[in-house]
Amino acid sequence: MTEELFHQDSYLQGCDATVTGAVDGAVIVDRTVFYPLGGGQPGDTGTISWRSGRAAIIDTRYGDDGTIRHVLEECEAGPAVGEMVHLALNWDRRYRHMRMHTAMHLLGSVLKYGVTGGNISAEKSRLDFDMEDSVDKEAVTAALAALVAENHAVSCRWISDDELDAQPDLVRTMSVQPPRGKGSIRLLEIEGVDLQPCGGTHLRSTAEVGKIRIGKVEKKGKRNRRVNIHLDD
Ligand SMILES: [Zn+2]
Repeated sequence: MTEELFHQDSYLQGCDATVTGAVDGAVIVDRTVFYPLGGGQPGDTGTISWRSGRAAIIDTRYGDDGTIRHVLEECEAGPAVGEMVHLALNWDRRYRHMRMHTAMHLLGSVLKYGVTGGNISAEKSRLDFDMEDSVDKEAVTAALAALVAENHAVSCRWISDDELDAQPDLVRTMSVQPPRGKGSIRLLEIEGVDLQPCGGTHLRSTAEVGKIRIGKVEKKGKRNRRVNIHLDD
C-alpha cells in the first residue's frame, strides 16, 4: 500500500519518497502527494526526479492491489526500486480540482436532488441530478456565491463503522449514505452546509472556491439534468 499524504494534507505540493516498484511504465512509491483518479476527480500530474533523471508524471491511478501508480511519460529508464525520489505536483491544476471539487459539494447542497453522476476537471465540472424541474441558473449562481462569501470551514475526518452505528443521527444528516464494510469511512464536512462520505481533495474553506458560475444545463433524459459549472477567472 502507498501512504496517502494527500488525505492527511491536501495542500502538500511535493514530497520525498522511496521507489517500491515499477509496472507498465508506472512508478510505485512508499508515500505520495499525488491523488489517483477516483470519485470523479482526475489523477494528478507533475514531475518525478531522482539522482540521475527526471520525468513527467502524466496520470495517477490506483492499481488492482491498492498501490498508487504514477504513470510516466515515455522515458529511457525510470528510477530503480529502492531509489529516493522527489515528487512535485502540477499544483495549479490540482488546486483548480480542489476548488471545483469543493464547489461541487456546494452545488449539491443548493440543488437538493439525488446525484446520479459527476465529473471534475480544471476547466469545467458537472453534476447530474435526478430531477425533472428546470434550473434557475441565476438563482443557483447567487446561492453558490453566498456560500463562498460566508466562508464555511471544510474538514475531513475518518470514522469507523462502529462509531457510525453509534451515531444514527450523523447518518441521517448526510446527503449521501456512507458505504459500509470497509472498516472506516472518510467524511467530508462543510460546516453547516454539507456532510457526506468523500475521498477527494478539498479546500480548507469555501472562500477559496472564488468566483464560480453555472454554465449550460443539459437535459439528459426525463429525470436527469446535467449542471455544468465553471471557475470564473
Ligand atoms: Zn468531496
